[in-house]
Amino acid sequence: MVQATNLGFPYVGAHRELKKHVETFWASGAPTQESTQTLRDAAADLRKAHWRVQVEQGIEQVPVGDFTFYDRMLDTSVLFGAIPKKYQDLGASSLDQYFAMGRGLQRAATATTAKIDVPAMEMKKWFDTNYHFIVPEFEENQEFALAETPAVVSHYHEAKAAGVANPRPVLIGPVTFLYLGKASKASSGFDTLDLLPKLLKSYGTLIQQLAAAGASTIQVDEPILVLDLPVTAKLALEKAYAALHKSASEHSVKLLVASYFGRLDSNLFCIKDNVDALHIDLVKAPEQLDVVLDAIASSNLVLSLGVVDGRNIWKNNLRASLQLLQKAVSKIGLDRILLAPSCSLAHSPYSIEFETEIRKSNPELYDWLSFAVEKCREVAVLTKALREGEDSVSDVLQANERAILSRKESKHTTDAEVRQKVEAINEADYHRHSVFAQRREAQVKRLNLPLYPTTTIGSFPQTKEIRVARNRHNKGLLSDEDYQAFIRSEIERAVRFQEEVDLDVFVHGEPERNDMVEHFGHLLHGYAFTQNGWVVSYGSRCVKPPVIFGDVRRKQPMTIEEIKYAQSLTSKPMKAMLTGPVTMWKWSFPRDDVPASTICQQIGLALRDEVVDLEAAGIPCIQVDEPAIREGLPLRRQDWDAYLKWSVPCFRLSVCGVRDDTQIHTHMCYSDFNDIFDAIQDMDADVITIENSKSDEKLLKVFATKNYTNEIGPGLYDIHSPRVPSVEEMIQRLQALKQHIPEHLLWVNPDCGLKSRGWPETEAALRNLVAVAKHFRSQA
Ligand code: GLN
Ligand code: ZN
Repeated sequence: MVQATNLGFPYVGAHRELKKHVETFWASGAPTQESTQTLRDAAADLRKAHWRVQVEQGIEQVPVGDFTFYDRMLDTSVLFGAIPKKYQDLGASSLDQYFAMGRGLQRAATATTAKIDVPAMEMKKWFDTNYHFIVPEFEENQEFALAETPAVVSHYHEAKAAGVANPRPVLIGPVTFLYLGKASKASSGFDTLDLLPKLLKSYGTLIQQLAAAGASTIQVDEPILVLDLPVTAKLALEKAYAALHKSASEHSVKLLVASYFGRLDSNLFCIKDNVDALHIDLVKAPEQLDVVLDAIASSNLVLSLGVVDGRNIWKNNLRASLQLLQKAVSKIGLDRILLAPSCSLAHSPYSIEFETEIRKSNPELYDWLSFAVEKCREVAVLTKALREGEDSVSDVLQANERAILSRKESKHTTDAEVRQKVEAINEADYHRHSVFAQRREAQVKRLNLPLYPTTTIGSFPQTKEIRVARNRHNKGLLSDEDYQAFIRSEIERAVRFQEEVDLDVFVHGEPERNDMVEHFGHLLHGYAFTQNGWVVSYGSRCVKPPVIFGDVRRKQPMTIEEIKYAQSLTSKPMKAMLTGPVTMWKWSFPRDDVPASTICQQIGLALRDEVVDLEAAGIPCIQVDEPAIREGLPLRRQDWDAYLKWSVPCFRLSVCGVRDDTQIHTHMCYSDFNDIFDAIQDMDADVITIENSKSDEKLLKVFATKNYTNEIGPGLYDIHSPRVPSVEEMIQRLQALKQHIPEHLLWVNPDCGLKSRGWPETEAALRNLVAVAKHFRSQA
């Protein structure tokens, strides 16, 4: 009979308890038996609490093994003994070694131990989420060995002991694990999927152990099922599940394979005959229900239907979900259905219970929200409705209907004027008046910059003083005037500094901004902020994205005062700084009642007004950052065009209201351009500054071979490290860049904002940077 299930829970805890425990453990230096035990006990308490909450909400198959101290991919590497050599020889305790892999480890020598200095393993973005995982690393002759006491087995016992009736072990699947992993540098580059046969043996043993412990279903996450896969990966999936299914049935345990974040398409056929149950994401890809139902109707396959959004924060429309679910019921019957959130709830904040401020100040919005705990409840209610009829939950359904209706009809989500403005956008709004060559002429005349102009990406060090002042201001301990005065003094400091160092295009330094998205969110209508809406971003780090709940419009000019003030202090050209529409969308919890393109058009219009105001205030350069355009790319290539067709124009909408002689900059911080080069050209910014310090050659060849026409500032040094780059190395780098990019189009700059740096290294690095530009000028 249909059951309420869950795929994963926000393991960090209601109040980020895990973060605190883990960070205390790190801060205490070399682990002792006591500190290790304290951390392990705290983690066990959290797990227990989380299982209890899920059971209380009505979840009948509770995930175990979804908990992690740092990252589940990292856990999987450790689980199967895929530990790169440099961490094996640390002589550290197992937890120490584990965290060393996740975040690196530096420890001075002691009387009895040698000095330790190892970097972290590589980190990458987890599909299209804002979560980052630790990339597994394999040797060509990699051997796997299942850990002596696999955490997932102990957690299963723990859950049983805590009275959970039906814990469901969760594993990362072997094909996702290998496919997302990489060959170690030392090996000569091989296909990590070749390791599958060896790895499957260890998975087989693990399945056996879980079955022996009493598990009735094992959830195996294979999110790569929603990607465009090469044939090798498809074959690996077929092979893997043929083998695992055999082990599972030998030990009378069921295998549930979970896909999420998108649609299966033809990948379905790689696994459907070799699994007992399959989870599909019906939030990201509701259209796949029919296809999947047709494909599996005549089998015994159980479908786990992900109808509750695991990644956003809105209440589920229960009636609409029931309608969708009825379709499945009528086709395959109640016995072959499980209900679940669309993906692990680790991507969702914990509970709306703690949002006391929204509740007080915006009760209407509060009634539309649903975080992880509430989502579990929604799954349980839907299950009950299917099992016992809608009447059995009529109260809940009615309350839900009221909330959904209130959101639909709310006066606070639609703004007639904004809608009209969006309607009135015409093609010309998406384009500058003249082509780049002509604009360039006007800009050269106005700005009169030297060859190799130098600039920075926007922020200067956010010192402790700045954070303290902001905090005190937020708490009402520092008056508005005093805070403004403080910000002005910081701006002045930045301007004087840039004069001192002799940069060419100045910035105001962004001292007033805590975060490039949240800061603007506060200045726009349609945004709201949670107190406790944390989601994990990587390791122990969490982010608290703002909520876009309504039509977006500018409350009033957002940056003019600060930039004007900065410009008043100097005769050097000032570059204003804004966050682009796509990034504003992608790094928020967006509303789901209008398309993303509409949200971004609205933000684009708001920014356009700001850009035009900046121009009117005499600011000659305006930078609109779009670090998230690449990140927003859909997982399937087939969907890219549709996305780029609205996202790139939304950027242009925000900047194209200006005259030819106003110079538009944009900035992106990733170097993976090959795929979307055309889109970048299509953004038509006069200047683009990009992160580049990691892979110059490859990246710039693309710009060169494709004949990028506009100006470009490839980052000359990596700002993520306090290391000061020498003049010589930056000369070399720029020399290499010159091979690919014509000198008159080149800018000289760091590769991202300097907000996380200290002043001393910032000064030293920028002095060297300016020296590099001068060196090349003298040779020109
Ligand atoms: N202007 C921003 C800064 O300098 C850009 C940040 C980013 O690219 N992530 O901080
Ligand atoms: Zn950047």
